[in-house]
Amino acid sequence: MPMTLPALPYAQDALEPHIDATTMGIHHGKHHNAYVTNGNKALEGTPMADLDAVEIIKNLANVPDDKRGPVRNNVGGHVNHSMFWEVMAPAGKGGGAPSGMLADAITKAFGSFDAFKEKFAAAGAGRFGSGWAWLVVNADKSLSVVSTANQDNPLMGKAIAGCEGQPILGCDVWEHAYYLKYQNRRPDYMAAWWNVVNWSKVAQLYAGALAANAWYEVKKDAGGKWMFNLKAGNGEVVLTSESYASKDGALGGIASVRSNGLDGTRFERRTSAKGEPYFVLLASNKEPIGRSEMYSSPAAMENGVQAVMRACGATHVEEVA
Ligand code: MN
Repeated sequence: MPMTLPALPYAQDALEPHIDATTMGIHHGKHHNAYVTNGNKALEGTPMADLDAVEIIKNLANVPDDKRGPVRNNVGGHVNHSMFWEVMAPAGKGGGAPSGMLADAITKAFGSFDAFKEKFAAAGAGRFGSGWAWLVVNADKSLSVVSTANQDNPLMGKAIAGCEGQPILGCDVWEHAYYLKYQNRRPDYMAAWWNVVNWSKVAQLYAGALAANAWYEVKKDAGGKWMFNLKAGNGEVVLTSESYASKDGALGGIASVRSNGLDGTRFERRTSAKGEPYFVLLASNKEPIGRSEMYSSPAAMENGVQAVMRACGATHVEEVA
């Protein structure tokens, strides 16, 4: 499937006054469109022509030598800009500060939200020539600020891009992104850009990056019934299912955890006869699909709930008293 230019998720003038409509029109309709056209041209007739653009830039080594440069620049440009439009939103919906797990992770990595913004702005301002500033999720799930040249993306890997990680926020610092309104004042553009950052989209990308390494262990319990454990990327068991009569039942339970994890997980907090707290994860039909181990305190249980959220990518939790 050739790449296509995605529509802007808002009107061309929606990011005014921070990013002007003319810049948006040229940036999306001319620059991004050219990356799509030239990327498709470079991929034509190669074995990766039908692959997803993200998969292509993750595996540039597989691109024939004579096509690698154009693919790196143009498919990279397409991936970068596709994300860029999505992580912005009109002021009001965009701007402000992140919340929840993403806010906690930013504070943990950088000390405070303001310290993060400073570091991000410095990465953009310090990028000589054209490129991008990024917030990435590392393999160990921590956050880092990095920057790349031209249309490189951290997903291309350290050997090519000079950095790595899963990007969840990217700021285009090419002059074409700001010159009409801000001329040579890149720091002013970046300062204004915070007003249109779509933090709920960034939180969604963050949850997706965290969930990427979650996995399930399916096994028979002592009674010969099937069950599964939800494991975080570090191998920690964060949830144990009820027993199922068949393996298909267990797999159905996993499907429930997955879909509920992304769409309104409900946790019921309970206390055992011995007074130990635990929680039950409920599907939208209120069927329990998993229960935690016992915890020594409500605070420890809260950590367990958070671990399930991280492992399954949940962004929303409805508590049931
Ligand atoms: Mn651009």
